Amino acid sequence: MLVNLVEILKMAEEKKCAVGAFNTPNLECISAVLKAAERLGVPVILSHAELHEPVAPLSVIGPVMVKAAEKAKVPVCVHLDHCETLSYMQQALDIGFNGVMYDGSMLPYEENLANTKKAVAMAKNYSCGVEAELGSLASREGGASAGSGPVYTDPDQAAVFCRETGIDALAPSFGTAHGIYKARPVLDLDRVKIIAEKTGLPLVMHGGSGVSPDDYRTGIRNGLRKINYYSYMSRAGVTAVRELLEKEEVTFFHDLALAAQNAMEADAEKAMRVFAGL
Ligand SMILES: [Zn+2]
Repeated sequence: MLVNLVEILKMAEEKKCAVGAFNTPNLECISAVLKAAERLGVPVILSHAELHEPVAPLSVIGPVMVKAAEKAKVPVCVHLDHCETLSYMQQALDIGFNGVMYDGSMLPYEENLANTKKAVAMAKNYSCGVEAELGSLASREGGASAGSGPVYTDPDQAAVFCRETGIDALAPSFGTAHGIYKARPVLDLDRVKIIAEKTGLPLVMHGGSGVSPDDYRTGIRNGLRKINYYSYMSRAGVTAVRELLEKEEVTFFHDLALAAQNAMEADAEKAMRVFAGL
């Protein structure tokens, strides 16, 4: 059942939990995530990142994501992750995406503010919620270095940004990073609490996979309502494929894909349990 970003975040707020947002650049990921969510009976977000365009173009995977969400037995939001160009966002809106993250975090503040306002105005014509980012993580989506290191979000600036743009959710920077962590992340979860209080909005954790269950729980208590999770799920798929290849001679690629899907499903389910407080 398709629900938009605003509605799914409201469900999380009511239960004081977080909803997982998983990148799904192929059918195996879509199936893995939806099966795990249906087994647990929890709402879930399927995301497409602009970065994954070479893996699966939005024009191809987007309609598949929307169809799969409509058929799912749990509430599903179909979300555009880290969209940096408004024309790309328009494509997603036309396909039926009902959540978008406009990411102007690498731009100067005023430009981020102006573009985020434009994104909110565009989404208003559709049943679509908007997430935006302020401050920047230590790494870009995909794990590449951001160059200048992390810029933690200033709570007062966040309050002004949220009020002026009219966004529905904010992704602050508080110590997480995209990709696989090289060292245990040290998170400023008090900052999350202050930003949640000052903005009054649901907050989003990017670089969510690889964070400890305790940090998830504290973060959720402090106002995180959406957790982006992908790298560790994807790596679980790779590990399953490697193990299968070491164990036996494999002829068909679909056997590898299925092994990866099952492992990703198990990993996603584990994450969803923590996010939902199960
Ligand atoms: Zn992200």
